[in-house]
Amino acid sequence: MDNKLNIYNTLSRRKEVFEPITPPFVGLYVCGPTVYGDAHLGHARPAITFDLVFRYLQYLGYKVRYVRNITDVGHLMNDGDDGEDKIEKKARLEQLEPMEVVQFYTNRYHKNMEQLNTLSPSIEPHASGHIIEQMELVKKILSNGFAYESDGNIYFDVEAYNKKYDYGKLSGRKVDELLANTRQLDGQDGKHNPADFALWKKATPEHIMRWPSPWGNGFPGWHLECSCMSQKYLGDYFDIHGGGLDLQFPHHECEIAQSTAAYGHEAVKYWMHNNMVTINGKKMGKSLGNFITLDQLFSGENEVLEQAYSPMTIRFFILQAHYRSPLDFSNDALKAAQKGYERLMSAVNALNKVKAGADNTVDIDILVAECFEAINDDLNTPVLISRLFDGVKIINSLVAGSEKISVENLNKLKKLYHDFVFDILGLKAEVEAVSKDHEVLGNILDMVMAIRAEAKQKKDWETSDKIRDELKIAGVIVKDTKDGYEWELES
Ligand code: ZN
Repeated sequence: MDNKLNIYNTLSRRKEVFEPITPPFVGLYVCGPTVYGDAHLGHARPAITFDLVFRYLQYLGYKVRYVRNITDVGHLMNDGDDGEDKIEKKARLEQLEPMEVVQFYTNRYHKNMEQLNTLSPSIEPHASGHIIEQMELVKKILSNGFAYESDGNIYFDVEAYNKKYDYGKLSGRKVDELLANTRQLDGQDGKHNPADFALWKKATPEHIMRWPSPWGNGFPGWHLECSCMSQKYLGDYFDIHGGGLDLQFPHHECEIAQSTAAYGHEAVKYWMHNNMVTINGKKMGKSLGNFITLDQLFSGENEVLEQAYSPMTIRFFILQAHYRSPLDFSNDALKAAQKGYERLMSAVNALNKVKAGADNTVDIDILVAECFEAINDDLNTPVLISRLFDGVKIINSLVAGSEKISVENLNKLKKLYHDFVFDILGLKAEVEAVSKDHEVLGNILDMVMAIRAEAKQKKDWETSDKIRDELKIAGVIVKDTKDGYEWELES
């Protein structure tokens, strides 16, 4: 099978065949959370999108080093160069050490990520643990002439950089337009140019998270950590950098500029961005009153929610949309996702009931090829899932006996669902406790029904009817079928 993965590279603005720089190794860097609050739907989407990338690359046999950072310093309230540090603000409001805030929300983030069945990254570096490396990067950019000092702050010189390289190549923004749009900020902070951004910020007297540097006490700019940590762990040139579309500008644009200014070349081969989540067509935001955390989704405790939604329902909901399309949350969409997830999982369970024989009336190879075609087309999970539902029809026909399958094809079909549903899409069964009881009950029924079959064979109708009637009194309804029997609990 031709298993060539095509991915859309934001940088080239087209789909490209994925070719790792040094196969079989793949470096994958994803911008992680700023840990000052609970994870919400907006966090779930990049986590699941790049979990899919991580899982599928491993499935294809690559050795993937997946680095996802924890931002715990330097991310200011307005996402720019002014305002209070997000974590410090939370720490001040709750009278905690900033690192207590970081630990508290990092633990909660991990718990949510585990609930969503995302695999842990290979390395999860903290920005605060890489201050020395960030200062070294600032020194390099300064000595290469692409930054300047201004009253204890170090700013990246966008104009100087743009003379030699192309600032705006990722987001498609033009420096001239950036200058025109931000003219009103002219002269603030001692910047030469409003488009310049901070590599290092001077700490005000009340600022807690500060480190001594050659330029005085301060802290690194937000964009710097990702340039620094991605290249520290993945090398000067690595395969994939991912993140949400909201990070494309300025965060990722600045990352490209910083790496290029320091090393003379870009660091990343493929840039991947997941699109945003909206709620009933509107952007989600604390101030908009439609902000839903993952814990609230799982418990149903938010007035926007008509019910609780399980982690696998959320995962399935996110995978049902292509990662580059916007995804709109609504109760109706989530209820539909819940039904879809349950239908898929019950088909996977039903596969165990399918019996192979000498006859075969189904084409499994086509189904397998179509599933790979979908995932290889820029991880087109909506098409993949609809192919898997085509297969559900086949499974149901096999269970009903209207189609026949050979042993070889049944093994292919089981492998297809096992690989795609569990390994690649990362779904899992959510009702394990119930299904365990169900399994034990099923085993006991098999035993009882074997005794009944024996009785019938001996034409001992009295015993045979007694077993059926007693089971009914016990709440189990048994129906004889062509190949044996079916049962269900009386509702
Ligand atoms: Zn980042």
